[in-house]
Amino acid sequence: MSLLQQLAEKKVLVSDGAWGTMLQARGLTTRECPEEWNVTHPDEVRAVAAAYAAVGSDLVLTNTFGGSRVKLEKRGLGGRVAELNAAGARLSLEGAPGAIIAGSVGPTGEFVEPLGMLSESDMEAVFAEQIAAMLGAGLRVICIETMTALEEAACAIRAAKRLDRAIEVIATMTFDKTPGGYRTMMGIGPEQAASALVEAGADVVGSNCGHGVRNMVDIAREFRRFTDRPILIHSNAGMPELVDGRTEFRETPQDMAEQVPALLEAGADIIGGCCGTTPDHIAGIRAAVDAHR
Ligand SMILES: [Zn+2]
Repeated sequence: MSLLQQLAEKKVLVSDGAWGTMLQARGLTTRECPEEWNVTHPDEVRAVAAAYAAVGSDLVLTNTFGGSRVKLEKRGLGGRVAELNAAGARLSLEGAPGAIIAGSVGPTGEFVEPLGMLSESDMEAVFAEQIAAMLGAGLRVICIETMTALEEAACAIRAAKRLDRAIEVIATMTFDKTPGGYRTMMGIGPEQAASALVEAGADVVGSNCGHGVRNMVDIAREFRRFTDRPILIHSNAGMPELVDGRTEFRETPQDMAEQVPALLEAGADIIGGCCGTTPDHIAGIRAAVDAHR
């Protein structure tokens, strides 16, 4: 069943939580490339997918967030885009066989001309290479996330849809709270994001990262004013705080679960977590979603 069919049937879907912080808890260091773990530590990566499936995630992502050629080149792994992304897709399919697997695609860190060095067609080709590897491994859903620039997000969405029009595309942006409202680092608000992401071809839009769950309620409400597409919200476990030189996220599973009714009333259709969230947070969200019916 496709993502949109499952949404139509179940009304609300629960997604997964963080990958980066989960892999760090399993030993990934900041010197290592997370995507290389798809080959060097497949059991650890598969276990993250399995842990989210075990607590009831309907949707599980892949360990491919930084898997674009532009990102991998900075780690000296530019020649391994196909290998590392296909491996990431396979590990989530194996770890969470009952879930819908969405291939994670994060920002390249570069900008489209004239702000940056890449032409639109170059940027689209970068994403097409990454996404094609995941489709080749059997994925039918792509999750383009943590975007701040509309041009880059649109290139990723178009890349997926041009490879296969039937691929379902989720596209989410990351906002900061500013005196003028919620804006991405590139100055984009939820209204502009909602219309531009849909225009580029996204089937599901929304927001991930940047905030704890309370601010995400506001962001979901703003998206809902400007689109009737399904909305996905992946909130962090609070704002990152530096404690003894380490980054910590302090929102508890209960804190997040308590906000689920507000998120649903604001218009969210798919709820999961971003940085700092764990299977315990997702279990809390799962229980709150089930209780809300
Ligand atoms: Zn995050």
